[in-house]
Amino acid sequence: TPTLKGVRLTRTYGDGAKRRAALQHVSLDLFPGQIALLMGPSGSGKSTLLAVLSGLLEPDEGQVLADDGGELRDVWAMTQKQREEYRLRTTGFVFQGFNLFPALNARQQLEIVLNWGGYAHGGEARRQADDMLDRLGLTPNRHKKPAQLSGGEKQRVAIGRALVKNPSFVFADEPTSALDWENGQKVMELLRDGAHERGASILVVSHDHRLLPYVDVYYHLEDGHLEERPLTPPGH
Ligand code: ADP
Ligand code: ADP
Repeated sequence: TPTLKGVRLTRTYGDGAKRRAALQHVSLDLFPGQIALLMGPSGSGKSTLLAVLSGLLEPDEGQVLADDGGELRDVWAMTQKQREEYRLRTTGFVFQGFNLFPALNARQQLEIVLNWGGYAHGGEARRQADDMLDRLGLTPNRHKKPAQLSGGEKQRVAIGRALVKNPSFVFADEPTSALDWENGQKVMELLRDGAHERGASILVVSHDHRLLPYVDVYYHLEDGHLEERPLTPPGH
């Protein structure tokens, strides 16, 4: 059964003659332990869909239903306070530009997420952060701040920060676009492991077809219309 359902989501921008639909009756299901890829040309509505599904941008119509401890909850029927609490508890986000805290070293980037969410404090937070850094191959870099890390290392820290609290949902916006392909592959392997081993539902937005071998489901968005596409193109 899906853990996150988008049901006939519609979102428009602008008013009057300038009114344009960025999403038109988009429905999709995300399943636990699966990584889904959302592809589509620039301006097709990918960022809008990611923001609506992750609880950041309210749709005009439709529902986002999330499994929260066995109960399906309508994310956009929650109060803002409930939604913030739900997002903090359930959702990890990986940004294209990494969004790391400049003053914190790699270990502290992860510790602070555990502290703020109330997951772990002190030595326990440090142990969980170090476990995750080890899995990401970042143990030798744990004392380095973002300015001292390469692009690939920064993105791995950002993935660690999204996964360390064991979220039900992870949203990744172009997580490989700032990286060379070798680092892009590492990032996709880590996200795939995050889904398969931790049971997270992961949605990756990208326009890089090379990510297809790393995902379980592939959705194509064009002019606000979504369709699921087969993973293996005909003739392969
Ligand atoms: P993508 O992420 O696929 O590039 P977006 O979701 O950013 O697509 O945009 C979808 C459509 O909505 C585009 O036509 C874009 O110009 C428009 N759009 C996005 N954000 C806004 C906004 N804040 N105001 C007006 N139009 C917007
Ligand atoms: P290099 O030869 O330096 O390894 P790559 O071909 O791996 O370069 O890619 C350089 C950059 O361009 C990377 O950030 C990669 O993600 C991006 N890129 C390459 N192909 C595509 C594509 N089809 N769509 C989107 N981004 C791409």
